[in-house]
Amino acid sequence: NKPFSMDAVLDHVSGETRTFLGQKHQLFIGGESRDAVEGGRRDVVDPATGQVISNVADATAADVDLAVAAARTAFDDGRWSGLKPNERMKILWRVAELIDEASVELAELDVLDEGSPYGIVKNFYISLGADHFRYFAGWANKIDGATLPVNMDGDWHVYTTREPVGVVAQILPWNVPFLMLAWKLAPALAAGCTVIVKPAEDTPLSAMRFVEICRKAGIPDGVVNIVTGDGRVGSALVDHNDVDKIGFTGSTATGQAIVRASAGNLKRVSLELGGKSPVFVFPDADLETAIPGVAEAVFLNSGQACTAGSRLYIHEDVYEAVLQGVAAYSEKLKLGHGLDAETNMGPIVSEKQYTRVTGLLDAGVAEGAKVVTGGKADGAGYFLKPTLLRDVTPDMTVYKQEIFGPVISAMKFSDDNIEDLAREANNTEYGLGASIWTRDLSRAHKFAARIRAGIVWINTHNQSDANMPWGGYKQSGWGREMGKDAIEMYTETKSVAVNLG
Ligand code: NAD
Repeated sequence: NKPFSMDAVLDHVSGETRTFLGQKHQLFIGGESRDAVEGGRRDVVDPATGQVISNVADATAADVDLAVAAARTAFDDGRWSGLKPNERMKILWRVAELIDEASVELAELDVLDEGSPYGIVKNFYISLGADHFRYFAGWANKIDGATLPVNMDGDWHVYTTREPVGVVAQILPWNVPFLMLAWKLAPALAAGCTVIVKPAEDTPLSAMRFVEICRKAGIPDGVVNIVTGDGRVGSALVDHNDVDKIGFTGSTATGQAIVRASAGNLKRVSLELGGKSPVFVFPDADLETAIPGVAEAVFLNSGQACTAGSRLYIHEDVYEAVLQGVAAYSEKLKLGHGLDAETNMGPIVSEKQYTRVTGLLDAGVAEGAKVVTGGKADGAGYFLKPTLLRDVTPDMTVYKQEIFGPVISAMKFSDDNIEDLAREANNTEYGLGASIWTRDLSRAHKFAARIRAGIVWINTHNQSDANMPWGGYKQSGWGREMGKDAIEMYTETKSVAVNLG
C-alpha cells in the first residue's frame, strides 16, 4: 500500500467534506444539535493512515435519557405515526433524493471512516442506501390489516391492524456504515416508529452528515435522534424501559448480551449477527465467473461483511485450478487508501480489528493451514493482503470463527451427495449466507433447500436488494431486514373483535 498523508487525504476530498471534517459534530436530539451532557468528545481515525481526521461527541447514559425522551414524546404525540401515509411516503422519498445529492460527501466520509474504495462505496453502498429509502417510502402507504372470518357464536366483525412498534433504538456496526443506517432507519420510519440511532464508535461520520438530510427532508423533530459513543451508549439504550425495540447489527457475543439485557421490559429485539458462510464450487461451474466471484465473496469490503463467503469448498477435480485462479486474482488486487482511484481493497477498520484478524490468521497457520498467498502488509494503516489458506480442516479456528477480514479458508470435497454436502455447509453455529457455483440448476436448487442459512446465492455472492429479506438462522440472528419482512419487524399486529349483536 502506498503511503497517504493527511494532506493527500484533504486534496482528494470535496470542499464540502473538508469543511465537514473540521466542523464540531454534536448529538442530534429532539431536532437540536447539542453537546454531550458530560462534554465528552472522541476522535475519529482514518484506518488507511492511522491518523485522526475528525471528532464527535461522546455520549453517556444521561444523553441516552434525553434522546429516548425526545423519541418517546415524538412517538406518543403522533407527530410521525399520525401523519397521512402519503406524507410519510413523500418525506422518505425526499430523504432518498437528498442522499443522492449528498452521495459524494457520504461516500467520502464512509471511505475515511471505514476504508473501502470510493467507487464501490459511492456507486454501490450509498446508492443502495438511497434505493432503500425509496423502497420503504413505497411501504408507508401500504401497511394494512385483514378482515377475519371467525367461528365465535353471534355476529362479528373481526379485523387486524398493524401499528408501529414504538420507540426503536438502532445500534449500528462499523462495516458499510451508511448502508447499515439506511437498512435500519427506512423500514422503521415507514412503519411510523421514532428512532434513536447509535452509530458504531469507529464510523460515526456519515450518520452525522445524515442530520442535515433529516432537517432538509422535513422529518419532524424528535423522530430521528442520533447519539454517538461506544458500547456503553448501546448498553444504556438496551437497558432503557422507554425503548420498545432494539434493532442491532454486530457480533454474536454482543447480540447475546443484548438479548439478556433486554429482558427487563421484554422489549422486542432483532439481530443481524455474524456468519461463517460456505461457498461450494462444483466441477461444472463456469470458472471464469466463479474464480473472481468466490474471491470477491470475501475480499469485498476487506472481508468485513457479515455474509463473507469465508469457508470455500472446492470440488477435487477443480481444486488446484480454483486455488491458482483465486491466488492470481488476489495478487492483482491493489491495496491502498480508499480515496486513491487505483485502490481495489482498503484496510481493516481499526487497530483493534487488525489485531483480532491477524491473531486468527496466525492461529490458522499454527494449526496447519497453508498460506497460498497473502499475509500482513507493510507500511502505515491497518492493511492485510487478500489471504488464501488451503487445506483447512473443520477443527481449525479459521474454520469455526468469524474472521471478518480478507481471509479465505479453502477445503477440498469429492462427494457429490447433497445430504453430505449440506452437513458440511451446516457444520457451523452460524446460518447467514451461502453460495453454490454450478451450471446444474437442479442440483443448485436442491442444495439451496438443504442449507440452513437465511440467504443462498447461486452463481453469485453478496448481492442484495431492498426487496430481498436478509438475516440469519441459528446464531446469525433474529428477524429479517429488508423487504416486506422488515415492515413486520417494526410493527405490532392488533386484533379488533366487534360484537355486532
Ligand atoms: P460489536 O458487536 O461489539 O459492536 C457493534 C455495535 O454494538 C457498536 O455500535 C457497539 O458500540 C455496540 N455495542 C457494543 N457493546 C454493546 C452492548 N453491550 N450493548 C449494546 N451495544 C453494544 O462489534 P465489534 O466489537 O466492533 O466487532 C467484533 C466482531 O463483530 C467483528 O470482528 C465481527 O466478527 C463482528 N461484526 C459483525 C458484523 C455483522 O455485520 N454481522 C458487524 C460488525 C462486527
